[in-house]
Amino acid sequence: MVATAANVASAQMDHRLLMERSVPGRVGVTLPGSDVPAQALPDAAMLRQDLYLPEVTEGEVVRYFTNLSQLNFSVDTNFYPLGSCTMKYNPKVNDWAAGLAGFAHAHPMQSDRQMQGTLEVMHRLQGYLAELTGMAGVSLTPLAGAHGELAGVLMIRAALQARGQGHRKKMLIPESAHGTNPASAAMSGYHVVSIPSDKNGDIDLDAVRREAGDDLAGVMFTQPTTLGLFDRNAEEMCRIVHGAGGLVYGDGANMNALLGRVKLGHLGFDVVHLNLHKTFSTPHGGGGPGAGPVCVTEELAPFLPGPVVSAQPSESGARYALTKPPRSIGRVGGYQGNFGVLVRAFTYITLLGGQGMRDISANAVLNANYLKARLRPLFDLPFDRPVMHEVVFSARKRKGARAIDVSKRLLDYGFHAPTMYFPLVVDEALMIEPTETESKETLDAFVDALRRIDEEAAADEHFLHGAPYTTPISRLDEAKAARQPYLRWKRE
Ligand SMILES: *Cc1c(COP(=O)(O)O)cnc(C)c1O
Repeated sequence: MVATAANVASAQMDHRLLMERSVPGRVGVTLPGSDVPAQALPDAAMLRQDLYLPEVTEGEVVRYFTNLSQLNFSVDTNFYPLGSCTMKYNPKVNDWAAGLAGFAHAHPMQSDRQMQGTLEVMHRLQGYLAELTGMAGVSLTPLAGAHGELAGVLMIRAALQARGQGHRKKMLIPESAHGTNPASAAMSGYHVVSIPSDKNGDIDLDAVRREAGDDLAGVMFTQPTTLGLFDRNAEEMCRIVHGAGGLVYGDGANMNALLGRVKLGHLGFDVVHLNLHKTFSTPHGGGGPGAGPVCVTEELAPFLPGPVVSAQPSESGARYALTKPPRSIGRVGGYQGNFGVLVRAFTYITLLGGQGMRDISANAVLNANYLKARLRPLFDLPFDRPVMHEVVFSARKRKGARAIDVSKRLLDYGFHAPTMYFPLVVDEALMIEPTETESKETLDAFVDALRRIDEEAAADEHFLHGAPYTTPISRLDEAKAARQPYLRWKRE
């Protein structure tokens, strides 16, 4: 068994909550003497009697939170092959750039004239993303991938209305899609029709043709698909949907395999969102800040959510300005988006350059195919063809080890679990995304761990059901955790 830093820390950690460590009279703060006249307390009715605060020393507080922080599983400590989430290494130089005082202390209500530097960064990033997707216009404002989807579908709706085609209400979505796709379509007032994959894992074109009528608004499509495959029917699908008068949405959350090689705009997509916090390396997870810019064709550009940064020479010397596109769907968030995330993505793309983008896709694809080849003897492979940035196996037909058992046991070996039970179209799915930033040694160690888990399952049918054994909390009763959540500490 591998003793990871997290395991050691947790074994040594005292699990009592800060509240439970409280000792009356123990003091953790040093307040300066008051330099204002004393005031009477407000009305007693406004004072809480039941507010219980822990009485602990400063040292205890520091140890408590430092130990807690070390229980986090992170890409900075361990391999994190969580499919479709792109847990690649995030270069620290991105954080350095975002922390520069001129960026970090900028206020969103300063005038454009005072903000030429930050606006230039946004303008250049818009240009990079237009270039990478082969699109005409970009808005950086959506705050997450799903938020970009919503903005994109609202643009499709606005463009159809502008064409006098507002009656079109049907949105096609492949059954392998990320759950946010049907949610975004439904929130925009569309009726979702699920489209199956054909036997090779590509979208079923006959099913698309059957739905391509006068009520078709469009399709939301992920390329590469969530099966980790480059869908060979994408271009034909775009032709069918356009031919029927619909528009094509591209979910570009995971562009690692295509960077510098395939532009979704050239395949026929009308609007695409990118996840800067996946493909362009901003730390993410736990609901932290993200950015889901939308990139669109010439036709859809007037509908982009505002503000966007435009550049034109002006007499005052202020070249960049925040503008609202002429037929904008409006704002989708406050101010200009998650600016710190935008600076990180800008830094990352600038640093790596065009050749670096191509290196990302080359290595992302190489790593995924290496794992596919090495893990094939252990798992079922539902679609046996070269993969893109990730590979989806099935753990079905395994004695004593379902996908969840394999995943939980991996934690004991110091590896984050793959995404499991997604995409829904694969039984007992294990979706593994190694990313381009992992070395061959790491991938080999991961394969060795999975081999050992296989041996463990073969030796004892029940052993894996108890995993993980070394983490601070072992297997949770997931149904109970959802139905009877225990979310806060209460004084007995
Ligand atoms: C992650 C992801 C999303 C959603 O992105 P969020 O930033 O989590 O909202 C959408 N589609 C796909 C394919 C994804 O992998």
